Amino acid sequence: MAVTSDILVIGGGIAGLSAAAALADHANVDVLEAEEQIGFHSSGRSATMLHYALGDRLVRALTLASRGFFDDPPDDFAEVPIGRPMPVLIFAREDERADLDALDADIAPFAELERLDAAGVHQLCPLLNDAAVHGIADRRGIRLDPHALLQGNVRQLRRSGGALVTGARVASIGRDGGVWRVTTEAGEAYAAPVLVNAAGSWADQVAVIAGVRPLGLEPKRRTIITFDAPNGTELDGLPFAKTVGDELYFAPESGRLFASPMDEVPSTPCDAQPDDYEIALAAFRMEERTVVKVDRIHSKWAGLRTFAPDRHPVAGFALEAEGFFWLAGQGGFGLQTSPAMAGIVASLLVGTPWPVADVTAEELSPVRFG
Ligand SMILES: Cc1cc2nc3c(=O)[nH]c(=O)nc-3n(C[C@H](O)[C@H](O)[C@H](O)COP(=O)(O)OP(=O)(O)OC[C@H]3O[C@@H](n4cnc5c(N)ncnc54)[C@H](O)[C@@H]3O)c2cc1C
Repeated sequence: MAVTSDILVIGGGIAGLSAAAALADHANVDVLEAEEQIGFHSSGRSATMLHYALGDRLVRALTLASRGFFDDPPDDFAEVPIGRPMPVLIFAREDERADLDALDADIAPFAELERLDAAGVHQLCPLLNDAAVHGIADRRGIRLDPHALLQGNVRQLRRSGGALVTGARVASIGRDGGVWRVTTEAGEAYAAPVLVNAAGSWADQVAVIAGVRPLGLEPKRRTIITFDAPNGTELDGLPFAKTVGDELYFAPESGRLFASPMDEVPSTPCDAQPDDYEIALAAFRMEERTVVKVDRIHSKWAGLRTFAPDRHPVAGFALEAEGFFWLAGQGGFGLQTSPAMAGIVASLLVGTPWPVADVTAEELSPVRFG
């Protein structure tokens, strides 16, 4: 079978689509997505924040390098805003003060932070109870719109001549004559010299189908609930508020509030569903830290955050399989780092300038796992 494109991307989440969009000006790119609609899995189920409490130095550097894109998006992203300003508040009890100091020092190189006392914390988030007495605020947080972001990437991909094929679950992969040959469950065949594995929680499974050694990726489930705010709450001004430890975050969401107990429950790759225990835990922690009573849960969902063993993202060619490129392990930061990661993929595959001064190709390479 003849080659159908230069680069074949498996996975139409934010990782695959942003990389494909960045590549499409330089190469002929096809994206194969198993589901009928894009964003059905992790990319459509997130808390949609850009903030610096996530991850470590490397993740923060990728986030900072992505900021310019979100602040001033390219034309293909102009139709619907891909983000809106939302302050970020990390709050702490007296006994958590040392942890807040440490986080403040970790984030300070990446964002302009304001230190808040009890009055400042309650002024920014009046829903917190009296135990919250310390805080750090980043007034420049961004609440992202993942669907606008995904659609912008699809527009950019198509404008440059690339294609997104949905309902195309890859079932077999083989290398023959210097080309990856891929067949979908429906029997459609594709062939390209370079295969980008951006299958999110399924990336290890896709590698195994291709005869490539898996990385040991770990999908972890996270749960979100939505519920009514107390009568009279001024939702518009509320921040994305997070405990200094990984216990709880909450924020305004479509006229209500959402909250997550920041669970990380190991899972197989699947259509993740919320579990009763984590739903109850979200409500419990919300009532423990705020003045809000969660009388009725309006909606709930869960999604998978998939981590590499060192919790850093992976971008680079597999050592043992020519043309097999990993783009995986976006964990809980895949939206906010997607512009920088897409630029990195383009740099590694088509030679565009390396976009993040503080991050090296070696740090992201799958070769680091041996
Ligand atoms: C509750 C929650 C909160 C989060 N909060 C944030 C946040 O505040 N900020 C942030 O930046 N990130 C956040 N994230 C993380 C972010 O959502 C992920 O890092 C990101 O969506 C991962 O993107 P992806 O493209 O790798 O995965 P996905 O979106 O899951 O895309 C992978 C795609 O591959 C497809 N696929 C799999 N196998 C095949 C196959 N065989 N053939 C074809 N296609 C296949 C799947 O159908 C899927 O659509 C959160 C995630 C969750 C769950």
